[in-house]
Amino acid sequence: MPKLTICGGGNAAHVLIGLAGQAGWEVNVFAPLADEANRLQAGGGITVRQHDKIIRGQARRISADPAEVIPGSEWVLLALPAFAHDTILRAIAHFLEPSVIVGALPARGGFDLAAQSILAGRNLTLFGLQTLPWACRITAYGQAVDILGVKDVVNLAARPPTLAPRLAKELATLFSVPLEPVSSFLTLTLANPGQLIHPGIIYGLCRGRETTTFTKDDIPLFYQGLDLSTAALLQAMSDEVQAITKALADHLPDLDPTEVVPLPTWLRRAYPADIADSSTLHRAFVTNRAYSGLRLPTRAVASERFAVDYTSRYLAEDVPYGLVVTRGLAELVAVQTPTIDEVIDWAQARLERCYLLDNRLSGPDLAETHAPQVYGIYSLEQMAAFL
Ligand code: NAD
Repeated sequence: MPKLTICGGGNAAHVLIGLAGQAGWEVNVFAPLADEANRLQAGGGITVRQHDKIIRGQARRISADPAEVIPGSEWVLLALPAFAHDTILRAIAHFLEPSVIVGALPARGGFDLAAQSILAGRNLTLFGLQTLPWACRITAYGQAVDILGVKDVVNLAARPPTLAPRLAKELATLFSVPLEPVSSFLTLTLANPGQLIHPGIIYGLCRGRETTTFTKDDIPLFYQGLDLSTAALLQAMSDEVQAITKALADHLPDLDPTEVVPLPTWLRRAYPADIADSSTLHRAFVTNRAYSGLRLPTRAVASERFAVDYTSRYLAEDVPYGLVVTRGLAELVAVQTPTIDEVIDWAQARLERCYLLDNRLSGPDLAETHAPQVYGIYSLEQMAAFL
């Protein structure tokens, strides 16, 4: 029976406890945030509901202390937002077995750089998924979670890369989703569509009216409210990612550039049955049934008024662990990224951070990102040596 420790106590962790418990894995949970460990313990096991299908799984041990759950683990899965990766990796590093496999669901940009740096050069096996396989929401904390949708296929990268096919095969059964091995963690960084779509659309919707408040009914539709100029901005960001990918792939044989598809292609492939009109990028967004009704992230500010929530993951995760990492790769190959820069400039002000300064990733808050420069990688040669 493989021994697995899940780090985190959110939606994804609930699904994993259910799936791995049902599959007969020995499941432990490391949940150090607030009183999550106690609340998970009190729940007594997780029911995972996916339409008519119901499965149940239980963790053997749940703790806020890594010493109680990490030693002896063959697998450690980080089911966490990227901004918690460093904290959790630092907490568990000392307790990991040399033969452990550590994975992130999902890995955002630069996960391999952060993990390798925090795990202090120990040659552990790492893997990352491009995205979470499930759209999922807890319905009763510590007890029940709903799977609302499952991805058709999810990319998996590994370090060392030769292990990706084997890991994809083993984990596809556990996650009940096809996993496609990709050439390198660089693919996950560059091909992350959320880093373009989320900051790009917030910028398009809010630039010039940053402090506007809305009533509940007039909060702008996030995807269906896309205008032509924001669609053009997204296309330009995607074009810049293609240019970075090509320049990197010319020098780094570890990266297969065909894995980094342009945004319109990704959108058509991700939602083949949901898009009514894919003739342009703009039409593909606004006629995508899967995006229907989703609104700009907001927070209540006064009775019946809502302001844009700039602390939402659409910026807090997708900028420092997405767009900034990609911008860092651009710097290695001297590819100009004026549109990505424009979006980072605006987004970092909303986050009250400074990553990009005088057209370079030299801002005082860069260290909290996973850009290659944070790990001393300033040239293609240094990136090749890391890979
Ligand atoms: P979540 O909000 O449910 O989980 C957050 C959990 O992370 C917390 O409950 C806590 O256990 C842990 N955490 C957060 N900050 C921490 C800290 N500082 N220290 C220790 N632990 C901390 O998130 P989720 O829905 O499980 O999503 C996990 C990842 O998957 C995120 O990157 C999210 O963007 C991505 N994702 C989620 C979905 C979904 O449907 N839930 C879909 C696609 C992608």
